[in-house]
Amino acid sequence: MNGNEHYKSNYFLGVLAIIYFFGRVNDHGYDELISLGKFLFGALILSLFLSPDLDTDSSVSNRWMIFKYIWHPFKSAGHREILHNPVWGPFILIAFLWVPLKIYGIDFPIETIIGLGLSIEAHIFCDYVL
Ligand SMILES: [Zn+2]
Repeated sequence: MNGNEHYKSNYFLGVLAIIYFFGRVNDHGYDELISLGKFLFGALILSLFLSPDLDTDSSVSNRWMIFKYIWHPFKSAGHREILHNPVWGPFILIAFLWVPLKIYGIDFPIETIIGLGLSIEAHIFCDYVL
């Protein structure tokens, strides 16, 4: 799959999230819409910067500009060797975001982490199945 097709899987994930969270508004109140926003931030915005394809010269890799060399060890290991692992890939990518921000006292909501994690899993699933 190319990058644009991966964005489509993220949009599909976003639509599913909208259906899920709007379905919960009646029972749980409008805080669910805030949770939806946090989820969509992870699934649609952060996934533009954190994708398993950081192990290639992809558009997501180029968004890191001079910092793209951070991902060079994964590129050296080979495409789909580490970051496309369904267990370690999301763990590594989220840790690269979460740990430095946590050190500076910035917390990401759990909905954002779940949104990002699901978008990474959707990417890996699409690469292997489609
Ligand atoms: Zn991929």
